[in-house]
Amino acid sequence: MNDVTQFTRADWQARADALTFRDRIWIDGAAVPAASGQRFASVNPANGAILAEVARGGAADIDRAVASARRAFEDGRWSRQIPSARKEVLLRLAALIRENVPELALLDSLDMGKLVREAATIDAPGSAHFFQWHAEAIDKLYDEIAPTGGRDLAMVRRVPLGVIGAVVPWNFPLDMATWKLAPALAMGNSVVLKPAEQSPLSALRLAELAAEAGLPDGVLNVVPGFGEDAGQALGRHPDVDCLVFTGSTAVGKLFQRYAGESNMKQVWLETGGKSPNLIFPDADLDAAADMAAFGIFFNQGEVCSANSRMLVHASIADDMIERMAARAARAQPGDPLDPGAAMGPLVDRRHADTVMGFIDNGRQSARLVCGGERLTISGSDAYVQPTIFAGAAPDARIVREEIFGPVLSIQTFTTEDEALALANDTPYGLAASVWTRDLGRALSVADRLVAGTVSVNTVDALSAMTPFGGMKQSGFGRDLSIHSFDKYSALKTTWIKF
Ligand code: NAP
Ligand code: MG
Repeated sequence: MNDVTQFTRADWQARADALTFRDRIWIDGAAVPAASGQRFASVNPANGAILAEVARGGAADIDRAVASARRAFEDGRWSRQIPSARKEVLLRLAALIRENVPELALLDSLDMGKLVREAATIDAPGSAHFFQWHAEAIDKLYDEIAPTGGRDLAMVRRVPLGVIGAVVPWNFPLDMATWKLAPALAMGNSVVLKPAEQSPLSALRLAELAAEAGLPDGVLNVVPGFGEDAGQALGRHPDVDCLVFTGSTAVGKLFQRYAGESNMKQVWLETGGKSPNLIFPDADLDAAADMAAFGIFFNQGEVCSANSRMLVHASIADDMIERMAARAARAQPGDPLDPGAAMGPLVDRRHADTVMGFIDNGRQSARLVCGGERLTISGSDAYVQPTIFAGAAPDARIVREEIFGPVLSIQTFTTEDEALALANDTPYGLAASVWTRDLGRALSVADRLVAGTVSVNTVDALSAMTPFGGMKQSGFGRDLSIHSFDKYSALKTTWIKF
């Protein structure tokens, strides 16, 4: 039986019990220990169990990985393969990911607490899809001849950059790695990937699958470890050409500094968000409530583009608050291997402490509509109830700061201008939603919202075909779509006089 939607809790548990974890650094096509010999625990937040002791990469390991990536790039074993050959390898990788969906889904679920049902139906198939999409695109990109005229031929070509450093977060471990790797590898670069310390397991397995698919040694290296050492060493490395990052705004700013203080490598940042969801009275309120609940409770609210601020017209505020409370009641956390659970634990106890700190602050500055409690399940207290606040002032911490948990703040507005002023009053600009049946209003509001993606009558619209990324302090540069190749290539002019 291979239909993951039919797996029971016992099925998942049996597969989990049979797993072996890849716990070493992946450099030059081989699993190796850290140069220091150090390890760190990979913990399952659902029950506090230690899954594996993973090699803790540091500066020396980053050096080895970058050297391996550089050798691979310079000798052309991948960078000079023709695009259709690179396509074939990455298509094989997509197929291998599909064959291994249950395992990859379990690795992320066990490592960081997301529901295995969602990891198996969204994250892992998504990873395969994104590799496939970028693979299929790469031999359909044409370059340019500039309109010089005369006895000149000026060719403008995209060329790979060289060695890419990628540093990613723990909320979608496999997919955040994929969003960087798929276009970077398709374009012919070599990569050194540092996964988050909370979630190294799926990236290590992915590297092995890539080798099985035929990716030459050294083209993809994975160095698990901590941000302050492995992450910083990659950010400061003199032989890394480009650093792509998804994570918090504060750490994103560090990478800009690392680049400025080292070799001025390119830095592309996908960072935090505090995305508004505007509900006008003429909207389909049932659909709006369903999607708003998904938008804040999916993946425990650990989503950069989570709709953490609902801005609702005063005339329907009480109605919407009631609808949202009803949906929150159905979004209770449970064992992430249980297909009936609506949310899992947060990524770790420390993050649960942080989220509870926001909730305590919210109790002072707003009205608690529902939730607000920390729960202990299977001996782990990393679980937090779906929580809704109403009536917070625009300067309250729960309105301004990214919580990265299942906490929604509902505010009211009376005019479109007021709604837009509230929506845009944030240092972030990743995503926004607007709900209305009035097409004119939808378009004018969408136009004035400062966000990389505006969803109309849905939340968090996203696909391989559309660019994803932010404005303001949500970052710059775009993942996904043809435009993602811009980050992994330079335009090179070759001018021939004849
Ligand atoms: P984070 O703390 O910024 O960590 C992200 C990555 O940076 C991790 O690999 C981390 O390593 C590393 N890092 C931490 N400190 C570092 C340092 N001093 N130098 C170099 N690297 C360092 O973010 P997170 O808590 O993992 O993830 C949550 C954040 O990601 C949220 O802000 C969320 O909005 C953002 N996010 C954004 C997007 C987007 O596309 N815009 C998508 C998903 C998530 P360690 O694991 O060792 O800390
Ligand atoms: Mg973990």
